[in-house]
Amino acid sequence: MRPKKAKKIVFKSAEEMPIMICSVGDQTHNLTGAWRNIRPEIDLSKCIKCGICWKFCPEPSIDVVDEWPVVDYDYCKGCGICAEECPAKCIVMVEERR
Ligand code: SF4
Ligand code: SF4
Repeated sequence: MRPKKAKKIVFKSAEEMPIMICSVGDQTHNLTGAWRNIRPEIDLSKCIKCGICWKFCPEPSIDVVDEWPVVDYDYCKGCGICAEECPAKCIVMVEERR
């Protein structure tokens, strides 16, 4: 029998999400930005400052500055999770040009 597909949990803000314990100590030495072939671009005019992208990003590559998300491209590996999870759909993944 095929397993049932898990229902996606949708959060409206980072405050709704469970507390996650993590350490970015080792990650800060690992400049994963070199892996990237697509990059996130955020349209701040549509951003609702929910913090979901910051919470979901698997690298230390989204900072929140004055409540606005800012991508640190030294660490962003271009996984696209932030764009997938953004409830306002204001992050698009575009081709990286180096
Ligand atoms: S593309 Fe991935 S690594 Fe880059 S900011 Fe988004 S979630 Fe983080
Ligand atoms: S970019 Fe999207 S996920 Fe990130 S804070 Fe803005 S609305 Fe939320």
